[in-house]
Amino acid sequence: MLKILNNKEDIKEANGEIRAGGTDLHDRYRMGVSSGAIIDIHKLDFGGFVEHLDGTFTIGANVTIDDVGQHPKVQSGYGTLSKAANGLATPQIRWAASFGGSLLQKTRCSYFRHPNLPCTKKGDAECSGLNGHHPNGVIFNKGGCPHPHPSTLATALLVYGATVRTTEREMPIEDLYGDGTAHDRDNMLNENEILTHVILPPAVANEKTAYFRSISRFEAEWPIVECSARLVVEDGVITDAGVGVGGVSQIPLRLNNVEAALIGQVATQSILEKAAKVSAENSNPSLQTAWKVEMMVGTILHTLEIALKG
Ligand SMILES: Cc1cc2nc3c(=O)[nH]c(=O)nc-3n(C[C@H](O)[C@H](O)[C@H](O)COP(=O)(O)OP(=O)(O)OC[C@H]3O[C@@H](n4cnc5c(N)ncnc54)[C@H](O)[C@@H]3O)c2cc1C
Repeated sequence: MLKILNNKEDIKEANGEIRAGGTDLHDRYRMGVSSGAIIDIHKLDFGGFVEHLDGTFTIGANVTIDDVGQHPKVQSGYGTLSKAANGLATPQIRWAASFGGSLLQKTRCSYFRHPNLPCTKKGDAECSGLNGHHPNGVIFNKGGCPHPHPSTLATALLVYGATVRTTEREMPIEDLYGDGTAHDRDNMLNENEILTHVILPPAVANEKTAYFRSISRFEAEWPIVECSARLVVEDGVITDAGVGVGGVSQIPLRLNNVEAALIGQVATQSILEKAAKVSAENSNPSLQTAWKVEMMVGTILHTLEIALKG
C-alpha cells in the first residue's frame, strides 16, 4: 500500500516506511529485505535554503543532494558540505535522493542487505557480521552493529555543529545517531517522526575546506573511509578546525583530539601529520578491520593537506 502525504500532520495516522527519493528504500524492496506499506513524503514542502538574520542557515530535508552541492551559499559558507554532496554516489543518485534520506539511509552491511541472513537490524536475534566477514567494518567500535554508518553528509554536518529539526523536536546532529551501541537501528528517530530541516550555524569567513574519500572504485560506491575538514588559518596559525571521519564507526565521528592537535599550531606539514596520527589513538579495530586504521590516518592527512592548500 502506498500513502502519499500532502500534509505532515497526516503522518500520525499513517503506517509504513517513509520514502523520500526512494533510492535506498527501493533498493531494499528489490533485494527482498523490506516489504510492506510505504508513506511517501516527497510532496511535503519543508522549504529550501533560507538565510536568517542571525546568520544561521536552514536547509529543508526534501531538497536533493545535488541541490545541496550546487547551492551558492553552501559552496561559499559550508565548503566541505558542498564538496561532500558533489562527491558522493553518482549524478543520477544526487538528482533523485533527498538530503533527509541521505542522513537516514540504512546500513550497507551485506548481511543486512541479504534477504536470508540473520541481522539484528532486520529483527533477528543474531548479528551475522560479528562473527562473519567484516573487513569493511568499524575501527571505533561503540558496541552496536559492527558496520559503519553510511551517511557522507552526516559527517560533513558534524564538523559544522549542525542541528536537525523533526516533526517532534530539535537536536544536535550527534543525537540523531546516538552513541553507536544500538544493534537494531541506524538513527534515533521515533516511528513516524519526520526529519524536516537541518540548521547550520553562521558561516565562518575565509574557511579552508576539503572533502576526501578513500574508495575502491572511482564512483558509485560508498567510501572505505572519508573525511570532511574545515580550517581557519590566521597569520599562518590554525585558529579553528573541524575534522569529521566516516566509514569507521557505527556513527559519524567528529575527531576532537585531531582538532585539538591542530588549533593554535603553525600550519605546517609536520603539524598536519602529527594531528592525523592522533586520530588512531582511541581506535579499537577487530583483526579483520585493523588495516583500515592506517587508511584512516592517510585519508585524514590528505584531506587536511587539500584544505590547507585552499
Ligand atoms: C551507487 C550508490 C552509491 C552511493 N554512495 C553513497 C555515498 O558515498 N555516501 C552516501 O552518503 N550515500 C551514498 N549512497 C546512498 C544515497 O545517498 C542514498 O540512497 C540516498 O541519499 C537516500 O535518500 P532518499 O531520499 O532516496 O531516501 P529514501 O530511500 O527515500 O529513504 C531512505 C531512508 O530514510 C528514511 N527517510 C527519508 N527521508 C526521511 C525524512 N525526511 N524523515 C524521516 N525518515 C526519512 C526512510 O524511511 C528510509 O528508511 C549511494 C547510493 C548508491 C545507489
